[in-house]
Amino acid sequence: MSGTEVADQARQLLQTIFGYPAFRGQQEEIVTHVGRGGDALVLMPTGGGKSLCYQIPALLRDGVGVVISPLIALMQDQVDALAEVGVRAAFLNSTQTFDETMRIEKLVRRGEIDLVYVAPERLLTQRCLDLLQDTHIALFAIDEAHCVSQWGHDFRPEYIRLSVLHELFPEVPRIALTATADAQTRAEIVHRLALENARQFVSSFDRPNIRYQIVEKTNGRKQLLDFITGEHAGDSGIVYCLSRKKVEETAEFLQEHGIRALPYHAGMDNTARAANQARFLREDSLVMVATIAFGMGIDKPDVRFVAHLDLPKSIEGYYQETGRAGRDGLPASAWMAYGLQDVVLQRRMIDESEADETFKRVLSAKLDAMLGLCETLSCRRIRLLAYFGEHSGPCGNCDTCLFPPVSFDGTVPMQKLLSTIYRVDQRFGAGHVLDVLRGVESEKVLQWHHQTLSVFGIGSDRGNDEWRAILRQAIALGLVWVDHDAYGSLKLTDSARPVLKGEQRVQLRQYEKPVKARRASTPRGHVEADLSAHEQQLFDKLRWWRVEMARTHNVPAYVIFPDATLRDIARARPTTLAALRGVSGVGDKKLASYGEEIIRLIGALDAGD
Ligand code: ADP
Ligand code: ZN
Repeated sequence: MSGTEVADQARQLLQTIFGYPAFRGQQEEIVTHVGRGGDALVLMPTGGGKSLCYQIPALLRDGVGVVISPLIALMQDQVDALAEVGVRAAFLNSTQTFDETMRIEKLVRRGEIDLVYVAPERLLTQRCLDLLQDTHIALFAIDEAHCVSQWGHDFRPEYIRLSVLHELFPEVPRIALTATADAQTRAEIVHRLALENARQFVSSFDRPNIRYQIVEKTNGRKQLLDFITGEHAGDSGIVYCLSRKKVEETAEFLQEHGIRALPYHAGMDNTARAANQARFLREDSLVMVATIAFGMGIDKPDVRFVAHLDLPKSIEGYYQETGRAGRDGLPASAWMAYGLQDVVLQRRMIDESEADETFKRVLSAKLDAMLGLCETLSCRRIRLLAYFGEHSGPCGNCDTCLFPPVSFDGTVPMQKLLSTIYRVDQRFGAGHVLDVLRGVESEKVLQWHHQTLSVFGIGSDRGNDEWRAILRQAIALGLVWVDHDAYGSLKLTDSARPVLKGEQRVQLRQYEKPVKARRASTPRGHVEADLSAHEQQLFDKLRWWRVEMARTHNVPAYVIFPDATLRDIARARPTTLAALRGVSGVGDKKLASYGEEIIRLIGALDAGD
């Protein structure tokens, strides 16, 4: 088939099966390339639409599409979502009974299925490889391909052995997909999966609908609560914390304040954890408080915010986590509270880890980039995208664009801080150093006679929080480091010398007293805000109807229809099946399953008006 013929067929499938009028971004090119048997490496941000890139070629080509995914817990939902649009899909994993496995294997062997999802460890068993040798295979899709990266945070050793696919099935096209974009990970994927000859499709990593905000941490939980109640009341969201304990405490705190929050971390027993995940996927307006163990592959499209109460270790991690907000393209927030303690803690974790020196250097560089993002005085998005090698201009949708931070020449206060650290012999931690600097006659100060030092009280013009912010920037700028002895002593680095001597000036971010939930000037918050009252009424009705449907079919609500589709229906208010068919997200099968009911529902509402 020619490229044009393949592209025409692909568009046909997109419209009839998935109900979408047009491909997005590079989807069409990718689908055509793989549909004609080419190998591909696809780098697309979360929510970019990667699934269609292998689902449509699998349908176009003869045989069964084999999808390799590490996410066993989500396979059922993926298969259910495909069944809803009339695609024959199944999975093979360790949760199945032997009989069920036999049944699916038979379907695969006979080619009576379009897509089969397999976990990598399963795929690599002799039994499964034998099965595939007996099967006509349309393509291999390797999802979450960054799991081959040993440097990455999602490393799965079995992924490395997936190069066997190329050796055993050289004729079968392979498409590897990931939302992790840095050059190092990309090179590792190519190398380990033998994709040297694959065409690379690199999309822009920008997620323009996500608003980035990083605030100065004073009382993290309270700030989080203000953020949720102020900007995202009633929305679904994810809150990331570093430790299990903090996850538990934060979830409780939110519950006490009337927010429906659930915990998720690796220390919970499997059943409770799976139950919380299932509730989060199926119900509206739940907040999941989790460690980073939560979220990979979660394709709930209507997560309205992702909040970080602790500093992530790297920009890759941060971007992947925040990327879980707003997959549906509607406005969403990425919010983080960040403070001195975060910097100290992350640095210590690196120093104390068992890793070798090279690995520590990599971790350290990643953390520095993350700190740079937190401390930047310019657009956050420019920083983020630059990290992934993309150039952009000020975005107008991040905190620094909306409320430009004021910077000031902080050379003098910085010198005061550095001298104080020096005068106490670099043997004391942050609390004591700041006491001396601000002239606080604490017990410890008196005990060490530090009230007699020339630096005592030279910083009495600023408050404690303000000095902590300056110290935090000093650490982020690499002028000071925290020794992980028993006191967490502050030490000067070589870079501190030119500043102390006045040879180098430093720009600092003006400290602002945290104000309660600073609101953006553009109306936001509830994403339905742009619907008229009349449309809103129908939208609400449709959401209730969807809850019922999801319960009857035992699938997440978004599998029936995502919010974006319900909003379009509310706006178009179709009164005929043909008109409903024109709404994005309504394909043939869903029209047949739900069309009549939706038209009836609209009719009843209009009659009642
Ligand atoms: P990813 O896997 O890249 O994170 P998904 O494949 O889950 O993204 O797609 C994100 C959302 O966008 C899904 O709800 C999907 O149905 C929708 N989508 C994908 N492609 C299109 C398209 N061409 N037109 C409209 N919606 C699309
Ligand atoms: Zn910006």
